[in-house]
Amino acid sequence: MMSFNPVTPEIIQQLKNLLGDEHVSIARADIDLHARDQSHHEAHPAEVVIFPTTAGGVADVLKLANSHHITVTPWGVGTGLEGNSIPVYGGILMSFERMDQIVAVHADDFQVTVQPGIGHKDLNAELARHGLFFAPDPGANATVGGMLANNASGIRTVKYGASKDNVLRMQVALADGRLIEVGSRSVKQASGYDLLHLFVGSEGTLGVITEATLKLVPVPTYMSAVVAAFPTVESAVEAVVAVRGSGLEPAALELIDSAHCKMLRETEGVDLSDNPTLFMEFHAATEATLAMGLEIAREICQELGALSIHATTDTAERKRLWHARHHSYEIMVRSQPDHEFFIMDVAVPISAYPALIAYVEGLKAETNTTAYMIGHAGDGNVHVEFPYKGQAEYDNAMRLNDLIVLKALDLGGTATGEHGVGIGKARYMEREHGQALDVMRSLKAALDPNGILNPGKIFPESIPSIEGL
Ligand SMILES: Cc1cc2nc3c(=O)[nH]c(=O)nc-3n(C[C@H](O)[C@H](O)[C@H](O)COP(=O)(O)OP(=O)(O)OC[C@H]3O[C@@H](n4cnc5c(N)ncnc54)[C@H](O)[C@@H]3O)c2cc1C
Repeated sequence: MMSFNPVTPEIIQQLKNLLGDEHVSIARADIDLHARDQSHHEAHPAEVVIFPTTAGGVADVLKLANSHHITVTPWGVGTGLEGNSIPVYGGILMSFERMDQIVAVHADDFQVTVQPGIGHKDLNAELARHGLFFAPDPGANATVGGMLANNASGIRTVKYGASKDNVLRMQVALADGRLIEVGSRSVKQASGYDLLHLFVGSEGTLGVITEATLKLVPVPTYMSAVVAAFPTVESAVEAVVAVRGSGLEPAALELIDSAHCKMLRETEGVDLSDNPTLFMEFHAATEATLAMGLEIAREICQELGALSIHATTDTAERKRLWHARHHSYEIMVRSQPDHEFFIMDVAVPISAYPALIAYVEGLKAETNTTAYMIGHAGDGNVHVEFPYKGQAEYDNAMRLNDLIVLKALDLGGTATGEHGVGIGKARYMEREHGQALDVMRSLKAALDPNGILNPGKIFPESIPSIEGL
């Protein structure tokens, strides 16, 4: 069990001296607001919440915390789904709410430099004026810092890549207070170790991102949507593999299983049948290319026995067709207000996706468990969402989660495609990475020898029993 020093009144005064009184809070409301993310993991309070406004302020706080062995947990906006930003050892919670500015738009280079606390949706609203957008989209209005730290993906990853593929450089504050630059604004980079991608996906355990330069893409001129229902989940998944194999390059390729479709229809009257359904989106530079793509997608779905196919290039109709997918999470939560949700995430190579989905379907049937499957199918990524009430249902979800992760690993996949390790996936790290986990431990020790940065994540031995703290 790791041990750290408490945040004393003297430390709070020093934090105020560094940041200004108004950027340091021990108010109950601030502590509670930053005690848990959107996951099923238990809340744990920090001792103080701080709101730095400059990179220098971040670095100064880290230097102070490091010299006193006090933990620092970075916080974007708390939409993580694996407890990634829960301050399980208390200490200092560093919120990026007040570092949410666009530093510079480099429109001619298709790049933007931002502070880490900007929400990706807010960023894209500004970038629309330049005809550009930052492609990774994890649904929630996550911050750029949180997305880079978790290597978030989302529905457009199948065409545009994950957060790691859309960042060029970052400024990072290290545990000892050094501010370093990693990567560069050149799209080609071959200079030294790739430190940029070491920090991406490190969940705030190796350094704190204080600025990032992101790659942008032009807003597509023409977009279409296809929504196709299939008689079985196997045929829907076959269509996923066929669409990927056709060279069509969908901008989104999502699967919702029949249980989820039924719930969406029954609770919100969403226009879906109770069948596994694929949601696709295509982007193109010309209308003709788009029309051709739509025709190929339609043919593939027909050949694989689709029961219904709705395709459109009309913007309003496209938004209507995608409504169910875009709002599936809120609708699910609203539909069962007396339940909590255990949302799990695994990913496998696309060829193994049918086997993974069939396995989950089998487990649900065998154990008579209510669970909804929703997947970024084009990436071989699936989320299984278990509603639960009480300990027995939680334990069942946990057991099935275990089995699904182990199956994904057996299929050559990973314990997490996009939500990160956080607290919940640490138990699989040894199994997934073997000796490579020791290399990760060495990197952690080199960059954060006192272990102050977001402890209790990624490494199984660092996870405390929260009640026992
Ligand atoms: C409805 C819903 C749908 C979602 N869909 C998706 C999806 O499709 N794809 C997907 O990938 N995720 C999805 N997520 C998960 C979540 O949005 C992502 O994990 C996102 O990256 C979290 O960003 P955040 O700003 O909320 O960060 P937080 O949750 O606050 O923090 C996430 C991690 O980043 C660290 N961190 C935050 N800021 C910094 C910084 N400046 N420097 C260093 N570390 C930092 C934190 O310590 C923590 O480890 C979804 C979540 C919800 C609620």
